[in-house]
Amino acid sequence: MPDHIDRPHGEAAREAAEAATAADWSGDTLREALVRAAEWTVDYRKRVEERPVLPDVQPGDVRRALAKAPPRAPEPFERVLADFDEHIVSGLTHWNHPGFLAYFSSSTRAPSIAAELLVAAVGVNAMLWRTSPAATEVERTAVDWLRQAVGLPDTFSGLIFDTASTSTFTALLAARERAGDGVRDDGLPGGPALAVYTSEQSHSSVEKSAIAAGLGRRSVRRIETDAAFRMRADALEAAIADDLARGIRPAMVCATIGTTSTASVDPVPALAPIAERHGVWLHVDAAYAGPAAMIPEQRPHFRGWEAADSIVLNPHKWLGTSLDCSVLLYRDVAPFRASLALTPTYLESEDDETDLMDIGLALGRRFRGLKLWVLFRCAGTDGLAETMRRHIAMAEAAAARLVEGGAFELAAPVSFSTVCFRAAREGDAAVEARLNREIISRVNAGGRSFLSHTELHGRYTVRLSVGSVHTEERHLDDALDALHRAAADLSPGEPG
Ligand code: PLP
Repeated sequence: MPDHIDRPHGEAAREAAEAATAADWSGDTLREALVRAAEWTVDYRKRVEERPVLPDVQPGDVRRALAKAPPRAPEPFERVLADFDEHIVSGLTHWNHPGFLAYFSSSTRAPSIAAELLVAAVGVNAMLWRTSPAATEVERTAVDWLRQAVGLPDTFSGLIFDTASTSTFTALLAARERAGDGVRDDGLPGGPALAVYTSEQSHSSVEKSAIAAGLGRRSVRRIETDAAFRMRADALEAAIADDLARGIRPAMVCATIGTTSTASVDPVPALAPIAERHGVWLHVDAAYAGPAAMIPEQRPHFRGWEAADSIVLNPHKWLGTSLDCSVLLYRDVAPFRASLALTPTYLESEDDETDLMDIGLALGRRFRGLKLWVLFRCAGTDGLAETMRRHIAMAEAAAARLVEGGAFELAAPVSFSTVCFRAAREGDAAVEARLNREIISRVNAGGRSFLSHTELHGRYTVRLSVGSVHTEERHLDDALDALHRAAADLSPGEPG
């Protein structure tokens, strides 16, 4: 250890103090920066449609445009904002573009943007109830509002994670604790082999969760689906019986309401009794479709989900909170605590309240509940439901127009707001894949729409999913025109 510390003296000390002060803003400087950022935001939302959905950049382009090292002295926000606009926004894929129809399209509703600003302003960490009591309680309130809005009983409570991947992983840790023998303390190697059951259409996050939870990828049984891509209950029953006969213990059944490729719905009313009979944890992944349970006529798709031990829904996918906001609901908090609660002396508190750090892996917790609460208050459940209802109607209308001229066929039943289709070339999967890949690539290169793909029964499939608050019928018209044009250009002499 040095016996003295070299600190600046005299003039140097004064300059250092000034630099520290200038490193933050207060008063008018802060107000001006916020006003500029707010103006930029309003303008961006108004004119995002004029930009191409996908940026015209090659790997490394954006990095090359940025300074190689951080500045030592502060720069004016105006200049930073100009660089953001010129070099960064031009390198973004615009999820808030109305023509974004790829993956599960999502967008940020304006109240959520305002709420994010407030979250940053208060900058709290809700690891313990006492480290920000209101943050914990707003989160629990907002989650409960969502529970009510989607019609789940008040036996469910929950909390917010960053993503569905984390929510499902956390549920698997609780399920693992219930199925294994003292995994928390002893780890996995000495205990029984555990298995997870999910359909061949479920999201990769289920498999990733099994990897991260130490169960191993081979512990995941990808259960066959029927012609409409729904998990087959008889195949689930057989897989569990097979494992039990080999001394393998079933840890979790993960059903999906709204699978990633086709948005198909697993038959939860048939799967739940199987899980219950074998005492297996039932998790429902409704990350995309879950919010649609707010629409009365969509409720039948959610039949039986109240039998689940845990359910994940992502308000950041279809409801319009900004990324990240994934709600994990559960019927019993005890297995979550049993799997992860751990309180070192320095975090002990005597408050008789839930400390959210006990339920997940992370200690520090963002104040995510605020944006969900603000969104519910400023949008209202009727408005939120109506937007999703329109998305579903737009997707159904788009599907009808796709097949109308004969250029495309549906590759799966239209489910929620997702359409899977292809220009069919029976008998030659490779030719068909090349054709559809080229169709997508031409549509995306046009800059007005962005579509993605999947594979169904070994056949390349185009996906279109409506989920952005900015998308209107005319944007679907753009996408459909571009699709039909590409199909016609690539299939001379055939109906286009
Ligand atoms: N579950 C389903 C059904 C999904 O479609 C996705 C992603 O699209 C996920 C889970 C993973 O979501 P996240 O990105 O929030 O981890």
